[in-house]
Amino acid sequence: MAQDTIFGKIASGEIPVEILAETERVVAFPDIAPQAPVHILVIPKTSQYENVAELAAADPELLAEMIAVAKRLADERANGEFRIIFNNGASAGQTVFHVHAHVLAGEFEERSLI
Ligand code: 5GP
Repeated sequence: MAQDTIFGKIASGEIPVEILAETERVVAFPDIAPQAPVHILVIPKTSQYENVAELAAADPELLAEMIAVAKRLADERANGEFRIIFNNGASAGQTVFHVHAHVLAGEFEERSLI
C-alpha cells in the first residue's frame, strides 16, 4: 500500500499542476525535470499502488487505462510514438512510491534505454 506522496497530493488536487489529460481514474501532468521533448507523468488517482508490479497484479484494467492515456498524449503532442518507463523499486530508480508511467516522446538524441 502506497503511503501519502507528492503524487497523492497532486491526484487529490491538494497540490495544483497543469493537467494534460484526465479520465475518471487517471491524471497526467508534466514531469518537473523533463528528460525528453515530451516527458509526462501518468498516474492513477488512487494512492493504493506503490509500483507497476502491484498495480498489474491487482488492477490490470487501470494499467491499461494509463497506457491508453499515454497513447492519446503521444498522438496529441508527438507523432503517436512514445517510450514508457516504470521505475519499479528504489534500486531501479524509483523515488516516488505512487505508481507512475514516464511517457517520453519527441526526438531522442541517442538510442538509449536509460
Ligand atoms: P521516479 O524516479 O520515481 O520514477 O520518478 C519521479 C519523477 O517525478 C521524476 O522524474 C521527478 O522529476 C518527478 N517529480 C518529482 N516531484 C515532482 C513534482 O512535485 N511535480 C512534478 N510535476 N514532477 C515531480
